[in-house]
Amino acid sequence: QPVIGVLALQGGVAEHLSALERSGAHARPVRRPEELDAVHGLVLPGGESTAMTRLLTTFEMAEPLRCRLRSGMPVYGSCAGMVLLATSVLDDDGSASPAVSPFGALDVVVRRNAFGRQTESFEDDLDVAGIDGGPVHAVFIRAPWVDKVGADVEVLARSRPPTAAEVTASEDGLGRIVAVRQGPVLATSFHPELVQGDERVHRHFVETVRAG
Ligand code: GLN
Repeated sequence: QPVIGVLALQGGVAEHLSALERSGAHARPVRRPEELDAVHGLVLPGGESTAMTRLLTTFEMAEPLRCRLRSGMPVYGSCAGMVLLATSVLDDDGSASPAVSPFGALDVVVRRNAFGRQTESFEDDLDVAGIDGGPVHAVFIRAPWVDKVGADVEVLARSRPPTAAEVTASEDGLGRIVAVRQGPVLATSFHPELVQGDERVHRHFVETVRAG
């Protein structure tokens, strides 16, 4: 069984640990560089990407993690974790986000808190490429979306397209990009770890780790 860590500096750690255990992995919290050395793959959980940026520095984890990511360690980021994996991070108003230092493991521009105040939290059922067995129940909590993807990034899921009334001049009428993959790097805007009884996204990641 692969050993998969969950970065445990802040955020929704316990839910990922138990989803990974139910998905056929040995899961452990990772707070220190030695703990990072001992895992085959890592989950970056949801929480606050600004707080995680600070804590990564405090715990002297930013550099070790950057190295592992560069060497191709499989990683899955949900929500704030997606933000941390991006190449470039914007705040909801489109300005560069000064308080987040992303790892650049995923060639995407991510916009934090992008779904706006009215829909700070919402749920939907979305088709996700590579996940068989019907739509995935997706829980969004002050979620980011992906503004732009590089050529090597596969779009796995989009949010439900806006209705005609919601489409503004700046939108293309398609839903927002909320799940992506680039090789061993997987990211979702939403939180599959919060949906009990459906481990398909975590199983998919465990398979990626096993293959790597
Ligand atoms: N808004 C948070 C951030 O930008 C993410 C929220 C979450 O992880 N649920 O870091």
